[in-house]
Amino acid sequence: MESNQSYLLNLHEQLDNNIEELRFYAEEHAVPIVDKLTLDMIKQLIRIHHSKNILEIGTAIGYSSMQFASVSPDISITTIERNENMIKQAKLNFKKFEYENQIRLIEGDALSQYDKVSNHLYDMIFIDAAKAQSQKFFEYYTPLLKKGGLVITDNVLYHGFVSDIDIVRSRNVKQMVKKVQKYNTWLMKQKNYKTNFLNMDDGLAISIKGE
Ligand code: SAM
Repeated sequence: MESNQSYLLNLHEQLDNNIEELRFYAEEHAVPIVDKLTLDMIKQLIRIHHSKNILEIGTAIGYSSMQFASVSPDISITTIERNENMIKQAKLNFKKFEYENQIRLIEGDALSQYDKVSNHLYDMIFIDAAKAQSQKFFEYYTPLLKKGGLVITDNVLYHGFVSDIDIVRSRNVKQMVKKVQKYNTWLMKQKNYKTNFLNMDDGLAISIKGE
């Protein structure tokens, strides 16, 4: 690991909360969860932006949604997950860490849950599900994003493959990486959004919806 990164990770470790123990579970069970410095960046954005209503696409075991909720008891998270095993784990975790009041879990494919989540507008949308579908999620859910709201997309550099697709051997991965490239280019061109890309961990895009 790059030394600046490991230095910063150690620095942050001193202030970690108890949700952090789920990192061990995620590693052991190969559940992809948001990287630590990326998470800290998003939590800081939530504070700066005063985001209160957050929509997350891709719950997994509930790690990121609980971390976001931990920023303030005023925050409400709506999170969508389709994998049954993940749903089970997330429910157990929301109960164990006492976040059931702040987090609403929507079960099913994120491309068909609009009606279930359209009862309010969101300050932030976190796109962290199937990486080839980020554009679809963006188009489907951003009508529910307030003006001035944020769309955060994780893994926009996907393992370094997005900037260097020639190193990818697997056809399936290559297809997926091409879709991420297409999404990034498309995102930059959205006139109603200002987007910047961070070369941090697996790559993070922060898009602000125009006023
Ligand atoms: N946000 C989580 C965190 O950082 O703790 C990690 C989410 S993980 C990267 C992606 C999750 O999205 C997986 O659990 C997967 O089952 C789910 N997923 C992928 N495509 C989906 C879809 N179309 N609808 C709902 N969930 C989806």
